[in-house]
Amino acid sequence: MATHSVENQSPSVENYNVFESDHALVEALAREASTAAARELISLGELAGSAEAIALGFAANEHPPELRTHDRVGNRIDEVQFHPAWHRLLDLATRAGLTGAPWRDAGASPHVRRAAKFYVWGQVESGHGCPLSMTYAAVPVLRMQPELGAVWLGPLTADGYEPRLVPIAEKTAALCGMAMTEKQGGSDVRSNRTRAVPAGAAGPAREYLLTGHKWFCSAPMSDAFIVLAQAGRGLSSFLVPRVLADGTRNRFAIVRLKNKLGNRSNASAEVEFDRTRGWLIGDEGEGLARIVEMVNYTRMDCAVGSAALVRAALVAAIAHATHRRAFGAFLIEHPLMQNVLADLALESEAAMALCLRAARAIDDAVRDAGANPLKRIGTALAKFYVCKRAPVAVGEALECLGGNGYVEESIMPRLYREAPLNSIWEGSGNVNALDVLRILRKQPESFEAWRGELAAARAERRIHDEARRLERDLSDWELDEARGREVSERMALLWQAALLVQHAPASVADAFIRSRIAPGSSRSLGTLPAGSALRAIVDRAAPTLEPVTA
Ligand SMILES: Cc1cc2nc3c(=O)[nH]c(=O)nc-3n(C[C@H](O)[C@H](O)[C@H](O)COP(=O)(O)OP(=O)(O)OC[C@H]3O[C@@H](n4cnc5c(N)ncnc54)[C@H](O)[C@@H]3O)c2cc1C
Repeated sequence: MATHSVENQSPSVENYNVFESDHALVEALAREASTAAARELISLGELAGSAEAIALGFAANEHPPELRTHDRVGNRIDEVQFHPAWHRLLDLATRAGLTGAPWRDAGASPHVRRAAKFYVWGQVESGHGCPLSMTYAAVPVLRMQPELGAVWLGPLTADGYEPRLVPIAEKTAALCGMAMTEKQGGSDVRSNRTRAVPAGAAGPAREYLLTGHKWFCSAPMSDAFIVLAQAGRGLSSFLVPRVLADGTRNRFAIVRLKNKLGNRSNASAEVEFDRTRGWLIGDEGEGLARIVEMVNYTRMDCAVGSAALVRAALVAAIAHATHRRAFGAFLIEHPLMQNVLADLALESEAAMALCLRAARAIDDAVRDAGANPLKRIGTALAKFYVCKRAPVAVGEALECLGGNGYVEESIMPRLYREAPLNSIWEGSGNVNALDVLRILRKQPESFEAWRGELAAARAERRIHDEARRLERDLSDWELDEARGREVSERMALLWQAALLVQHAPASVADAFIRSRIAPGSSRSLGTLPAGSALRAIVDRAAPTLEPVTA
């Protein structure tokens, strides 16, 4: 049509290096792991920013998985069919070491390196992050039961993807999910009613028969699941494979797939067990303690995944504002747009910096249990605060694209639909905040470890003052449940501020403190106070993209 020419539209955000163009990330990785760690991230960053990977992310969400309960002649099969893009994404991600690789990695800082990769790759597509994350997190649980670990740990920690449903002995790589949530209770898993009775002798690594239902069970085509069920002596964890050693299918009925707000590429199922075979992990009654170990790692991934969503949205917002003109200037030149973008950039850098620091606490704790207190509080704070901020930040970034941001091709609607999820699963916001209070009550050494993180930044008066105020408030409030979110938020913000004061340019740290640490600074995005170095903050966050053709 010759009615008009297409102009003043921004270029597609593709064919750039997601890692190398993120200066704050490059610095954080060098700090929390090493400069050598950048090598593997550069190639993954290249792939993550490629038009091919971005197209896979779109295709996997435009063609959601479909449940096939029966085969042509009526045999029950309980399989989910995915678009080839889903399989390709999982193949690329597992080969990059995003499942159990850190647990067999003898190199330095394997968990920080994986977190950085999860952050980079999470900017491509979030849905397939779910099985990656659960597989990563299942490994420490199975390590506690060596008889089961001997069979499963090899494939779960291997790089690679093998989607066939065959006995584990025939697989070089495998995925693991988890099934805790039931209709009558998710957060309150003690209300689980799925029953487990010993098939013969009872005890660790022994076979049980499970009967009941699970209201949510994501990635149901995984090779095995860690399942909570009530055994004689209470809530217990079981390893439930989909295919048994003799090649027959375990009794694992996929009742239906959830019709979800977002996370469309991933299948989340309701499943039913009917004398389904499972093997006990630990002792009967130890189920919560076992599965909490898994949940702590998936929680960390929720935080990293949310930080990735915020970064992806920020990159799209800056790219658009750089190329789109309105009222005689590029959007990025308008002071109020600079304020919004700069505020988003602060949110993004602080989220990523906190996540990588908390990931280093995981590396430290894996090496030396003495570092566990920081790992525990770090995971809880990052999960609560970073996940809580993601919908707000992504929504604001979406608006930077105007009407284009509300249209699917821009990726923003997908990021926006995804954004609330990380805060819901693995312990919703309140449950997480209550976990922070529980840690403070039961493990005062965690609070000391958190204080230690502030020590080097207390020369900054405003951090010191807010830390004093919080300590005073904590003793006055006697850890009142109703203030759980406030405590978690203030602890997370102080830690983020301390990281930025030590490691980010002064313009970034100062604006963060003025907007987020000062008393009464609760506010909407784009309200950084006068005198903030808006353009410098945005420029630090801006990705290097291919020059746009006129
Ligand atoms: C897409 C998707 C995939 C999922 N995949 C899986 C999976 O693979 N495996 C699995 O086991 N589960 C899965 N879940 C379930 C998820 O983990 C739960 O939905 C979540 O833990 C919350 O539990 P619930 O839905 O029962 O909500 P509830 O426990 O009923 O909580 C409802 C609300 O009440 C709040 N609340 C609860 N207790 C308290 C309290 N004491 N004080 C104050 N507030 C409280 C919660 O924070 C929440 O906001 C999935 C969920 C979704 C949405």
